[in-house]
Amino acid sequence: MKYNQLNTNAIMEINQRPDLLFIKGKNSWIEDTDGKLYLDFMQGWAVNLLGHCPSEIKKAINDQIELLINPSPAFYNIPSMELSLKLTQASCFDKVFFANSGAEANEGAIKLARKWGQIKKNGAYKIITMNNSFHGRTIATMSASGKPGWDKKFPPQVDGFYKANINDIESVISLIDESTVAIMLELVQGEAGVILSDKSFVQELRKISTEKNILLIIDEVQTGMGRTGTLFAYQQFDIEPDIMTLGKGIGGGVPLSALLAKKEVSVFEYGDQGGTYNGNPLCTAVGVAIMKVLSCDFLEQVKLKSNKLSSELNLLSDRKGLHGERGLGLLRALVLNEKDDANKIVEIARNAKPNGLLINAPRKNLIRFMPALNITENEIEIMIEILEKSIEISRS
Ligand SMILES: *Cc1c(COP(=O)(O)O)cnc(C)c1O
Repeated sequence: MKYNQLNTNAIMEINQRPDLLFIKGKNSWIEDTDGKLYLDFMQGWAVNLLGHCPSEIKKAINDQIELLINPSPAFYNIPSMELSLKLTQASCFDKVFFANSGAEANEGAIKLARKWGQIKKNGAYKIITMNNSFHGRTIATMSASGKPGWDKKFPPQVDGFYKANINDIESVISLIDESTVAIMLELVQGEAGVILSDKSFVQELRKISTEKNILLIIDEVQTGMGRTGTLFAYQQFDIEPDIMTLGKGIGGGVPLSALLAKKEVSVFEYGDQGGTYNGNPLCTAVGVAIMKVLSCDFLEQVKLKSNKLSSELNLLSDRKGLHGERGLGLLRALVLNEKDDANKIVEIARNAKPNGLLINAPRKNLIRFMPALNITENEIEIMIEILEKSIEISRS
């Protein structure tokens, strides 16, 4: 069916979408109904870890649908066991609960922390989160998030979340009291515009939370699964969290997320947590395939690619008089000039010919890059070329 024969009237509009329709994709390229190819540096918001329709995922899905799709979470299944073992062996955690989205994994983390507070800390329930943080779009995770304006949406908020500032240890300490059960943060605030936590701040948080018997929850929905050059970002901060959440890349494009916890913190009792699709073999089989790709050699390649992207962005910044770039691994941002309009640049890049470019503008003068982890050096160069022209056109 051609795009102009389609009718979007029955689609609930939740954001402004461009007037185009994608029908297929391969690795870092996605194609619309006119056969135009776009270089994809968004990848479904850092979701498609290996790009569009990678052979590893196709094979995992094809093999699994021949066997078993959904026995229900009332029973064990092989892929979820295999994935939980791979995740715990590769991290400091002992137990895994699978879910279907980042928000749902974070809801689970909030519930687990509150449960732990009930039975181990006299009913402590307060969770300190960060201003400008993003933890999801359920009511509780919106309340946990520090996205400006979100505290006024869908009132009343869920109680018990207190906001501190990233890299400001005093702002955290001043919120701690005996009912504080956890501190929850992203090591790189993605939606806020790729804001990095300082290593010293994170280590200080770990020290204080240990001293005061408070759980440290790291939301690695965006930073996990090799995105930052190590399997998990916390490994670059020389700390061990008590709880970690994963999403996005863990499913490489299919709905899968995970809540990981240390043994001592895994206090859910029967009936506390669940979900119809949780840990289904179809999605966890994809997670297993993703974990198999993320070898040391592959992560070494991610580091080389991120160095290349970083230096190319810096050169572009120099040529165009911009304010440089920042990021961790293949989660990076370019800081434009005050007068530049990131949204306009995003649109010009998308409309570029013969090939378009998909990038994201989380802030008015910031562009974010979250390519597939198997992006090639040549594709990075093509991206810079289209972006540079787009910046020029936006200024003319
Ligand atoms: C995207 C994201 C979420 C929410 O994940 P969903 O799958 O959209 O629910 C939570 N935390 C962080 C850090 C994210 O980037």
